[in-house]
Amino acid sequence: MGRIHLLDEETINHIAAGEVVERAASVVKELVENAVDAKAAKIIIDITADASAVKRITVTDDGVGVSAEDAALAFRQHATSKISAPDDLAGIVTLGFRGEALASIAAVSKVTFTSKERESAAPEAVQVVIHGGELIRRTSVGAPEGTTIIVEDLFYNTPARRKFQRSVSTELSHIYDMVERIALAHREVAFVLLYQGKERFRTYGTGAYPDAIASVFGTAFARDLIPVEKTGGIAEVRGYVSKPGCNMRPTPTRFYLTINSRQVTSKSLQWAVREGYGTLLPKGMYPAAFLDIIIDPRDVDVNVHPTKREVRLSRERDVGSAVRDAVYTALHDDEIFTAAPAVPAAKQQKLIADEEKTAEQKHEKTYEIPKEEAPKTTSFTESKRSLHEAVMSYLSPAGASDKTPIRSTLRQTEIQLRRTESETGAKPTAEVPEVLGQIAGTYIAARNANGELVIIDQHAAHERVMYDQLLQKIAEKKASQELLTPITLTLSRAESASMPELSKTLVQAGYVIEPFGQDVWAVRSVPVISSTLGDVKVIHEIIAETAGISEKNPERVLDRVVKTIACRAVIKGNTPLTRNQMERLLCQLAETNSPHTCPHGRPTALVLSKEKLAAMFLRT
Ligand code: ADP
Ligand code: MG
Repeated sequence: MGRIHLLDEETINHIAAGEVVERAASVVKELVENAVDAKAAKIIIDITADASAVKRITVTDDGVGVSAEDAALAFRQHATSKISAPDDLAGIVTLGFRGEALASIAAVSKVTFTSKERESAAPEAVQVVIHGGELIRRTSVGAPEGTTIIVEDLFYNTPARRKFQRSVSTELSHIYDMVERIALAHREVAFVLLYQGKERFRTYGTGAYPDAIASVFGTAFARDLIPVEKTGGIAEVRGYVSKPGCNMRPTPTRFYLTINSRQVTSKSLQWAVREGYGTLLPKGMYPAAFLDIIIDPRDVDVNVHPTKREVRLSRERDVGSAVRDAVYTALHDDEIFTAAPAVPAAKQQKLIADEEKTAEQKHEKTYEIPKEEAPKTTSFTESKRSLHEAVMSYLSPAGASDKTPIRSTLRQTEIQLRRTESETGAKPTAEVPEVLGQIAGTYIAARNANGELVIIDQHAAHERVMYDQLLQKIAEKKASQELLTPITLTLSRAESASMPELSKTLVQAGYVIEPFGQDVWAVRSVPVISSTLGDVKVIHEIIAETAGISEKNPERVLDRVVKTIACRAVIKGNTPLTRNQMERLLCQLAETNSPHTCPHGRPTALVLSKEKLAAMFLRT
């Protein structure tokens, strides 16, 4: 940093003026940011309070310090070393630049500022004491390189303001939050926060984001994040976001965003992150996100808000798209079914080779069965018999061979599962977890290649598979199958009124529905994925569910239609599955882009790692 000087009138007029000292936490923020700007490697924040208020704030750093001449100048209004002309406002890289904080703080408290300039010839440090803006004393003292500033009796001379201060615990929580945010934004700096002389929080300044996150939120939390990295384009985006299904909250409290190292809040970028999740995010939930965005400093205006928490981006939309894409890519690169580590997996493979072979034979067998499911065709009895046989062959010897309800459920399941089975029967390229068994008729317990326990929700999993395939078919314009005889449908007035618009969207999903009379509509084609979707009741449900959407966005409506279709046509919970069916479902799931969640954003699979199990069993 250069010499401190007073800004000229013109520059001052360009600065968004405002109050920076509202409360103890804002004092902490300004002092810590000054220490960061001074290139400190270690910053110690020490807070003392009595029952009614924060009494003393001490911030010590090992940064560049100031010279004896500059020490008193630093406390003058508009005295800064960080900018000198209006032009400097574009392209600011320091956290401070207004030259107001020290002056404002010193005006309402008792400050002791001690600083020794790095590599200066002067043997001693300078110390200035200022009470209520008045210089009390300026002396030389012995002190190490860097700066210590002590702020006492905040608002002692402004009783009205003092009254507005919240309880000590509220103030402390703001201070903790503030320091955590700054520490997360500046991982190369080690932070220590003391309260009443006791250490409350510490980061190590390793520079690594996961280390800082682990310091603030714990290692278990940090493990459930996945890295985001996007370079090139107008914005570089790096950081970490929640794994789908992990660390979700109903409020965006764990959203840490920096733009060019400045921590900021931005509703639009928050939204961009959520868009990156798409269907991986449960409704109304927010992931944790820790993202650094680097853009051309000329594209960001930090000079819009006195506390600098809000910034204006000249290319906000482009930056938003970059963030969304970065998050999307990160989420879809991540594999819940992690690739097998070569050696141990090979060994394991051999052990289960035999079992696999039989499974494969069974799998092949299923392809001998005619794919036809519509019961009106001539091969009805034939297909029914072979299907029945096939289903029965999956049952274990102890299987419920004479329990008709189970038998018919299995057949139904078989039909549902086949809707999404690939014609080629090719093995998925992704690693498929090994099925251990079914739990509560609803979940599949499996072991992935890392030896972790994976629990899969069969309905959510199949829904995800179906949803992805439907979208694929829609993209290829192969969603529709024509009915031999159209079905007629009587709709309510309101539903009927929405049909001219809605039918355009339904066409894309595979439903060709045309007017047939007063509130009567003819269904000429249904989605190819399943003829059950030609059921009048199902169609009616889909229309009822989407007609009311006030959404003008046809893409959203289509999405909703597709989700509803997917939900209707897939395996439900509380349905017994054979081992072979479970294996096939997991194969299908492994082939999807987003095996972690169903289209509604609920998780499809939970992974219980060795560490998680150990923690649950309190083994350490
Ligand atoms: P700003 O940060 O906007 O420049 P401040 O009032 O916060 O204004 O600080 C005024 C000046 O005092 C800074 O520009 C800087 O030169 C100096 N200063 C403040 N705190 C420190 C510190 N911890 N280490 C070194 N210099 C500091
Ligand atoms: Mg400052």
